[in-house]
Amino acid sequence: MAKLWTEPVTTALRADGLRVADIDTSATPGFIGGKQLGKAMLPERGELLSVLQEKLFAHGRTGGDRKVLLILQGMDTAGKGGIVRHVIGSVDPQGVDHASFGVPTEEEKAHDFLWRIRKRVPTPGQLGVFDRSHYEDVLVVRVHDLVPQSEWEQRYDQINAFEKEVADAGTTIVKVAMFVSLDEQKRRLRARLERPDKYWKFSPADITERAFWPEYQKAYQAILDRTNTDYAPWYVVPADHKWYSRLAVTELLIDALTGLGLDWPKAGFDVAEQLRLLDQS
Ligand code: ADP
Repeated sequence: MAKLWTEPVTTALRADGLRVADIDTSATPGFIGGKQLGKAMLPERGELLSVLQEKLFAHGRTGGDRKVLLILQGMDTAGKGGIVRHVIGSVDPQGVDHASFGVPTEEEKAHDFLWRIRKRVPTPGQLGVFDRSHYEDVLVVRVHDLVPQSEWEQRYDQINAFEKEVADAGTTIVKVAMFVSLDEQKRRLRARLERPDKYWKFSPADITERAFWPEYQKAYQAILDRTNTDYAPWYVVPADHKWYSRLAVTELLIDALTGLGLDWPKAGFDVAEQLRLLDQS
């Protein structure tokens, strides 16, 4: 089959030097196959992802300490839920630790913003997924002045230090920022309002938040400028095309898991001997 990626997804989507205002949310960086092929590829790539994730799980079960953490951020309707369902959904759930972070509870508010996050970092062999994350503490919190600027300003450095600690403990961190256009968001919100089976996904606040779009763009820019590190890089995923964002995140995870260089654990027993004993049993 002809080559469908013109460059690795990790370089096509790296956020280095990127201006949020310049993001073409309907683009498909690096991929020239188009929708039909892109959609058709997903199950096959999901199978590879599943095998790689099982290797990670087996590694954890046999004393290994590696883990992978996918951090998902994006405006409402950007498709984080679709990534969880269609990408993470292709792997064995026992190896996945999915954590979603909503408005902090009273107990969470009484602690440092990283308190609830630390509790959910993946354990050995796990693929952790943060569905929203500590980045909300410099996004919604910054946009709505939920804490004074002097406090959120410090958080970028605190986040970098925290992620360094997590990475040093054997975690490959993959940060994905999904971007839809304001128009596409409007279409998706309308679709939610036109379908009773989608009402549950809608909140009136989704509409009022649209007025803050420029402030969110600024807050996302600050994140990309200040927390895009070599140990926890940001990837910017245009998300107007759901088939593309799902394929792209699948490829990012395949890359992260392949990078671990894991093989199936060696048998801790004499296989021939066990086969002989089995035959005799
Ligand atoms: P989702 O929109 O991801 O499906 P919810 O409908 O539960 O999930 O929305 C979660 C909400 O929690 C979002 O509006 C988000 O901005 C908010 N949130 C998350 N973290 C924080 C935080 N640290 N402070 C204030 N609000 C937060």
